[in-house]
Amino acid sequence: MRILLTNDDGILAPGLAAMYRRLTALGHVDVVAPESGQSAAAHSITVRYPIMSRQVHVGGEFHGYSVEGSPADCVKLAIHALLDAPPDLVVSGINAGENVGIHVLYSGTVAAAAEGALQGCRAIAVSLEYADELDFDRAAEHAIAVIRDVLDNGLAPGELVSINIPALRPGWPRGVRVAGQSTARLSETFERRNDPQGRPYYWLSGNLLRDVQETADTDLRAVREGYIAVTPLMVNLTDPSRLSAMRDWPWSWPQSGGGCGAAEPT
Ligand code: MN
Repeated sequence: MRILLTNDDGILAPGLAAMYRRLTALGHVDVVAPESGQSAAAHSITVRYPIMSRQVHVGGEFHGYSVEGSPADCVKLAIHALLDAPPDLVVSGINAGENVGIHVLYSGTVAAAAEGALQGCRAIAVSLEYADELDFDRAAEHAIAVIRDVLDNGLAPGELVSINIPALRPGWPRGVRVAGQSTARLSETFERRNDPQGRPYYWLSGNLLRDVQETADTDLRAVREGYIAVTPLMVNLTDPSRLSAMRDWPWSWPQSGGGCGAAEPT
């Protein structure tokens, strides 16, 4: 199996190295990852600037390609320019910090895996709940077991799964829980400060999941309760529950393409 490993924390991030060491048991691993931290880059891509890439060596050995771009850039460039053959599996992570709930939308880690899915690969994002001490080696050990289970049970090309590992407190993880994405709102605050010239600037400071009250059976709650959350994600953002009702709305113009699927090209 050919595996493309990427992340959003940068090619030298310890979470990527820990995941690399475990993934080599599953097949050939190519690393293509951002040159620098790209957390919260979401699914952005670079279109107006050239994308620089260089070979990175660690300890005298070839480690992979760094890319001065977003996580999604890395996956596109890997598949269409850098790698000899397309990967069977794209793994993104291990991210320093959980990507549950609304954070899924901001996450570069999840976006890199989603890009892999868009490119027709099996895709898995792996994130570790943030804590004062992040034990990526143990997290990778848990992650590889879950990845094996996911692959054994069936992950089709183009399908995306997100794995979130709880902080490794004593006795955790308590198990695996398949859970949907939380839509709980974050409590958001901006700190207003002044620069040396006295001009105000703002800094997002309260964008925290830990302040969210969550009662539903979601990825957020699973991680909070010490379980590894496994979430099947899809890139199609269409809301199927409103699709047919909106087609019946009295539009000012005649509707074209009525009855066609949402994903069909126009
Ligand atoms: Mn990150």
